[in-house]
Amino acid sequence: MSSDTDVKIGLEIHVQLTSLKTKLFCSCSSDYRDKPPNTNVCPVCLGLPGSLPVVNQKAIEKALRVAIALNMKIAEKISWARKHYFYPDLPKNYQITQYEGKGVTSIAKEGYLEYHVNGNVKRARIRRINLEEDPGKIVYHTGSMLTSKYSLIDYNRSGIALLEIVTEPDFSSPREVLAFLHELRTLLEYLDIADFKLEGSMRVDVNISLAGGSRVEVKNVGSLSDIEAAIVYEVTRQRSLAEKGVKVEMETRHWDQERKVTVGTRTKESEEDYRYFPDPNLPPVYISPNMLEDLSKTMPELPQTVRKKLVQVYGVSEYLSSVLVSEKKLAEYFEEVMKRTNIDGDRAASIIVNDLVGWVGEERMNQIDKIVPASELAELLELLKSGTITIKIVKEAIPELVSGKRTRELLASKGWIGKVSGHELAEIVDTVLKENANAVTDALNNPKAIQHLVGKVMEATNKRADPKEAFELISKKLEEFKAKVRLQEDR
Ligand SMILES: [Zn+2]
Repeated sequence: MSSDTDVKIGLEIHVQLTSLKTKLFCSCSSDYRDKPPNTNVCPVCLGLPGSLPVVNQKAIEKALRVAIALNMKIAEKISWARKHYFYPDLPKNYQITQYEGKGVTSIAKEGYLEYHVNGNVKRARIRRINLEEDPGKIVYHTGSMLTSKYSLIDYNRSGIALLEIVTEPDFSSPREVLAFLHELRTLLEYLDIADFKLEGSMRVDVNISLAGGSRVEVKNVGSLSDIEAAIVYEVTRQRSLAEKGVKVEMETRHWDQERKVTVGTRTKESEEDYRYFPDPNLPPVYISPNMLEDLSKTMPELPQTVRKKLVQVYGVSEYLSSVLVSEKKLAEYFEEVMKRTNIDGDRAASIIVNDLVGWVGEERMNQIDKIVPASELAELLELLKSGTITIKIVKEAIPELVSGKRTRELLASKGWIGKVSGHELAEIVDTVLKENANAVTDALNNPKAIQHLVGKVMEATNKRADPKEAFELISKKLEEFKAKVRLQEDR
């Protein structure tokens, strides 16, 4: 689906502050995953009568850092509201959140984030950000909400700090939405807010409308691929209704993850239904100019800055720089390697992105520096730069380094040190061509078959030749053969 000017998409993104040690209003651990059900709870997050919430100051600090990075207007006084609704995963029957108006304020409003689509810079406006508590989790005995015999409730997640980020409806295609979410996630990782590898750490409500139609909200979509599918489904559904002359109703729909469709629900809460009012148990938090100044001074490097640095300081291409920066750990690793070698930055980036990352694997990326210490890779790259080893050996060595071998011992044990080239290589090429007459005949008729001979040369040199140089030498020899044959035919 391309960008359609009549499509408007806005997002409400819920991100768990997974980097916090405790929940938003109590001292229960925020590491609730894989715990036995209802063991990570206390009277506060169970909403027992008489229990009193206390705000986690670190959560405020983290939210303020996000507000600064998103160029937002930050409130001087942050206050808390109760949002009422009845649902089994919400033991108090209200959620502590924030709100703009009625005497309460959210953390910050009116910011923006720039992102790239097809090489163009786009800007999405951020309406507001606020903190709120996560509800518990409803666990279906079997299947889904519709098919399960009964439901169970696990309150381990209840009270986990959520950061809600609300955008203006500034997107017109799934491609824009995904590019924005990638950028936002990278930013939040650099700010040490969340680890998006954890299941359920980000959930998105997607608001979609077509020109002339009402806004439809698709609730709680968990993964980027589901967000894309939900938008495509909903735009198609609304378009076909419009074509039939049926008015699109304003409603909330659920995303059915298994069937990949949106399903209408009977609930149509309006803001009045939630009866927002200030939480009397929680005093407001005042944000002093000093506090903001301290936070601004201690902001970590943001993705855009790092991306620029990799291009300007290390000569990495725009593309490879984006790939490295998309994983904070990877960009840090790259810089650690570059501190220890004089190899060209773009070449090092290419080897890390195209070879090392594949062997380490996405799920182990956080330990890349433990799996292959930067000093070990730097040593390998330095040997490549000095011409002591070939790129072929670098590519062979990387999986061995990933499996725990160390550069020097590996190269020595495999006999990989010492490049074979020039006259020495030409002699080996001659021998290989003599010993593989059939392959030579093939290669004379079909240039693609030359690679087979290159392989034989690499074998004969124990991979210590440069495959490009070997290819050129073989091609030259084959041309000489052809010329000789032609001479004989002419006679
Ligand atoms: Zn608790």
